[in-house]
Amino acid sequence: MKLGIVGLPNVGKSTLFNAITQAGAESANYPFCTIEPNVGVVAVPDSRLEKLAEMYKPKKVTPAVVEFYDIAGLVKGASKGEGLGNKFLSHIREVAAIVHVVRCFEDTNIVHVEGSVDPIRDIETINLELILSDIEILERRIDKVSKSARSGDKKAKEELSFMERLKVHLEEGNPARTLEMTDDEKELIKQYFLLTSKPVLYAANVSEDDVINGYENNPYVKMVEEYAKNENSEVIPICAKLEEEISKLDDEEKKEFLKDYGLDEPGLNRLIKASYRLLGLISFLTAGPDEVRAWTITEGTKAPQAAGKIHSDIERGFIRAEVTSFEDLIAAGSETAAKEKGLTRLEGKDYVMRDGDVVLFRFNV
Ligand code: GDP
Repeated sequence: MKLGIVGLPNVGKSTLFNAITQAGAESANYPFCTIEPNVGVVAVPDSRLEKLAEMYKPKKVTPAVVEFYDIAGLVKGASKGEGLGNKFLSHIREVAAIVHVVRCFEDTNIVHVEGSVDPIRDIETINLELILSDIEILERRIDKVSKSARSGDKKAKEELSFMERLKVHLEEGNPARTLEMTDDEKELIKQYFLLTSKPVLYAANVSEDDVINGYENNPYVKMVEEYAKNENSEVIPICAKLEEEISKLDDEEKKEFLKDYGLDEPGLNRLIKASYRLLGLISFLTAGPDEVRAWTITEGTKAPQAAGKIHSDIERGFIRAEVTSFEDLIAAGSETAAKEKGLTRLEGKDYVMRDGDVVLFRFNV
């Protein structure tokens, strides 16, 4: 599951992407990830791993990772095939969620393609291209389903009426993700693979000054926040340029740098964590003397399928999961103490995993 980074030219996409790849997880450790020049694999910051490492002193610590795809070249007219438009739209089709970079910094040296800084106009320019592409897809589907509807197929009639409603929604300039839908309609819309169905977070690219003085005073960020609120999307203010500089530093230098700027952590960390959530992903943890590790699952995953992430044999032979919440384990001070205090639960095959579960799976070989 990848996120695609989109936005108009010159808003800071490549700068942000460079920050991501430089901060990136060493690709050699992640042979399961496809490494392409425009795909960046980065570790998901997780302070729980450090705490567990203090407790277990493992040989290695392996974080969860998330993949970003740099989708450059989206311009006005893309849905009509301008500026290699269709190719870029097809790249967006491949990602599970979108990071939309919006320029919220003034800098006379950096040309804005539209001549001025106006984040809402920029967001709507991109969103319009995605909406137009979706309308085209929807119209094709409407054509197809109309035939069955005319011949009296009840299901087809229902779908048709849903699609007409969706089309009006899109034509009014709204993304598909903001349409109120029944559960059945949510199932239907999945099959259309619309671009504007994908969850979005807005990365408001602010200036270095805003990082120092607080971006609360940046009116552009406020505008983006208002806009995002209406569609239930999150906004992460970030200074791409600063993040790129931070990502080049070693750990010691990074600490100094952040201290000078009065920051707890790089803005990139917040962006990565928000991206992981946007994908509907959570982590369960395993801990032992060899390795402390975060494993990625989608929300709602049950224990055997989570075990399957480690090895298919563990899923096949699943007996039970011994689960301690991270907080309980830390509070107890050790695995043994947690067990003695009755904080470790035995869970069966219907157990729905939670973020931060520290787990030991028992299985038949
Ligand atoms: P892209 O076309 O969206 O990929 O934009 P780039 O990442 O290439 O950035 C365009 C220009 O804006 C470059 O000269 C960057 O150095 C500059 N830039 C990117 N982020 C920032 C920022 O946060 N502040 C300032 N002042 N310049 C930035």
